[in-house]
Amino acid sequence: MALVGLLKNRTPSLVALQNSVEDVNTPLKRSPPLSPSMVRVLCAIHTGPWTRPLNWDLHVTHDGEPCVPFFLYVQPTPTPTRTSCSQFQKFRDFPAELQLHVVSFCDGPTLFQLMRVSSATRTLAKPLFWSCPDACFLAYAEQVEVCFDGAKYIWHDWEAGLRTGAAVMRPQRAEDLVRDFWRTVQHRFPRATRVTVRESWLRKATDPPPDEFRILIQQCPASISASASILQQGVDYQLERSLWRLAPGDTTGTIGGWERIDPSRTRQSILPPPKEFRGPVGAFERIHYHFYHHAFRKWAVRLLLIEARERHHFDGRHESFHCFDPNCEVRLQQPGEWTLHAINSGHDSKGEGPIPPEQYKASFDQLKKQLKCMEQQDVHGPMEKMRQAWGDEGSEERHNAERAFLHQLENDPLYAHGKPAKETSTWFLYERAMDPDNC
Ligand SMILES: [Zn+2]
Repeated sequence: MALVGLLKNRTPSLVALQNSVEDVNTPLKRSPPLSPSMVRVLCAIHTGPWTRPLNWDLHVTHDGEPCVPFFLYVQPTPTPTRTSCSQFQKFRDFPAELQLHVVSFCDGPTLFQLMRVSSATRTLAKPLFWSCPDACFLAYAEQVEVCFDGAKYIWHDWEAGLRTGAAVMRPQRAEDLVRDFWRTVQHRFPRATRVTVRESWLRKATDPPPDEFRILIQQCPASISASASILQQGVDYQLERSLWRLAPGDTTGTIGGWERIDPSRTRQSILPPPKEFRGPVGAFERIHYHFYHHAFRKWAVRLLLIEARERHHFDGRHESFHCFDPNCEVRLQQPGEWTLHAINSGHDSKGEGPIPPEQYKASFDQLKKQLKCMEQQDVHGPMEKMRQAWGDEGSEERHNAERAFLHQLENDPLYAHGKPAKETSTWFLYERAMDPDNC
């Protein structure tokens, strides 16, 4: 699964995540106080003043980090006034340089819409859209962010770990792994010029980026400018994500030299459109794709409930309230206090916490119904159909299904793993998903 991440300050990024299926069942429930996820959870919750309605399309990762599917990202924001066709016609009479200048002020979604208006606007908007810091999509991405839970996982063979259930180190030398890493980045993102390696683990305020990132950046290809993004805990438990680069000259191997270059960056992620789904492997991958989309919305429900409670008490009024945990004495007096307290303590799951305020009840009921429908239609239904086609052990159906799946894994470049089909994570996950014990 890959996420394309964009930053609110218009610095873009791509995040490659590798989550196992069972992660979906252990998301925010296990958030400890002041977890690394807190800072990102807070980004997903608006604590006022509120100028827009609750975002019922909110998607977040299992860490509570907000992400936006591509189809929502390029959806134009509704505006109260519409420009008539005749007014737009006048735009075409402008000199070409002026047209280009006007279009250069457009954001990603607007550029995307312009690309669909006419061949003339497409010519203007297309190069800007794909070079825009707000848009980085695989082959067109110029700025990419690669995410690791912890930097040390660079040396881990996650596919082997998936099969054995234990941490498995890759047998290659570090420099070979790093060379492969950059080769893959350049293969997948041939236009990448700026790459950020990002870590989700929480580090102390005084910690520099980990040595693994130093090794990666030191071997960065000359055509790419590389940086490291880490999460740090500062005074008063404030968490912040910081961006670092190696000082000039340090790429030759000099010790030291990390420079902090943007201590205030926050980020937003965009889910790229999926690649083509074809054949039996594609059918299985499509279920995974929908599975995560459903999970991203399901994980967002807790955050929407917290924000709904904030709005209920502090949007256009000021009604302080007691925490819903009967054993907690805290009284929430100001906007934002409930969000911090709920995330830190988990008390939003107590008492009335998980019950939406009356004004939002119908919307939450509708969201719940929608998620249930999505899950059945896009995940459970197709998976059940696939299990039926898998048949019983020793049956002809099983033989045919296995053969077709393995044949595609071996021969279809779209799903190439560079290793025998039976040793791939896709085959492992498929076999596990077909096992009725895992239903
Ligand atoms: Zn409390």
